[in-house]
Amino acid sequence: MGETVIPLADLRYAAPVPAIPAQPIAATGLLTDALGRPLRDLRISVTDRCNFRCSYCMPKEVFDRDYRFLPQASLLSFEEITRLARLFVGHGVQKIRLTGGEPLLRRGLESLVAQLAGLRTPDGAPLDLTLTTNGSVLAKKAAALKAAGLQRVTVSLDGLDDAVFRSMNDVGFPVAEVLDGIEAAHRVGLGPIKVNMVVKRGTNEQEIVPMARYFRERFDGRIVLRFIEFMDVGASNGWRMDEVLPSARVLAMLREHWPLEPLDPTVAGETAERWRYADGGGEIGLISSVTQAFCRDCNRARLSTEGKLFLCLFATRGHDLRSLLRGGASDADITSALAAVWAGRDDRYSELRAAQPPGAAGSARRVEMHYIGG
Ligand code: SAM
Ligand code: SF4
Ligand code: SF4
Repeated sequence: MGETVIPLADLRYAAPVPAIPAQPIAATGLLTDALGRPLRDLRISVTDRCNFRCSYCMPKEVFDRDYRFLPQASLLSFEEITRLARLFVGHGVQKIRLTGGEPLLRRGLESLVAQLAGLRTPDGAPLDLTLTTNGSVLAKKAAALKAAGLQRVTVSLDGLDDAVFRSMNDVGFPVAEVLDGIEAAHRVGLGPIKVNMVVKRGTNEQEIVPMARYFRERFDGRIVLRFIEFMDVGASNGWRMDEVLPSARVLAMLREHWPLEPLDPTVAGETAERWRYADGGGEIGLISSVTQAFCRDCNRARLSTEGKLFLCLFATRGHDLRSLLRGGASDADITSALAAVWAGRDDRYSELRAAQPPGAAGSARRVEMHYIGG
């Protein structure tokens, strides 16, 4: 497996250090990129490790015992993450999502949550602070996360059938423990909870209707289930278009059981198309990253575990912010550098791919999802 690992490792260390502009650029909260898109949403990967091996993200054959995860010293500390987050907030970020890898595997995560919960936007508002987790240790951690100031969680769950779920996480993890985690999060008020289901044609499409029924009935429509098209992210998940079940098909399957009505987006740049059960059973979301491009309003930046900034989920290179932090750059220097990087952003991978034949976009050097976070 060594040959597969080396390019990923090389890529991780290949991000250039952003230049500090000669003329300082102050934070105004109004920064926009080359396509006029603001910076609103920061996703922070707190670990590249995970206890699952979902085939669409960290296939066992690649992420095996020889795989070299990042050494502890190269991870950003909680203080470094919080410092960067504060500077991003100055540029307009209003929402922070902790992700990974599996974020709940990072030791002491509650103390990072507490530090981030103390940040305020230039208007004095708290951030929308959330976390995406596979739910495996959520039952144990929900109360402490809530107490630290986390507002809500998104839990990934690809099916209710235990055999299907065990085979998709590929480590035999039982579905009952994830469901316990969701119950615990609900009990302590980490809501509104979202549940993300990646749909792979031929693998878990039979779970779509049971999942919808479960979350409608058990939580009185208060949990939003979102169906995600299997994406060609990274370079190792063996993505094939014929394993994508288009969201339009998911919607048609659901409509055979319940009438659904479209809802308007709540905020610009929202990833999911929202639908409501006409009988008041709550709402669902469809994330059609393959069949429907949504780059026009994309306001998301991603910070990798060792401090590289990625401007697109499908980026092939990052911007090394850790070198700025550890090289003694001042807040004003980093603020200026961030402004210059974002101002040059013209990424719109999904839109460009949509204009090409399926599979033509190539995947050789793309960054992996577990590394920059979903
Ligand atoms: N480990 C956490 C989890 O699974 O929720 C957080 C990190 S995970 C990379 C974030 C999200 O990305 C999850 O909801 C996961 O299902 C999704 N994801 C990973 N690989 C994907 C792929 N190839 N296509 C679509 N979604 C994917
Ligand atoms: Fe781990 Fe999440 Fe990736 Fe699954 S999707 S392998 S749980 S990081
Ligand atoms: Fe944003 Fe890149 Fe996804 Fe387009 S492809 S929506 S620019 S992350």
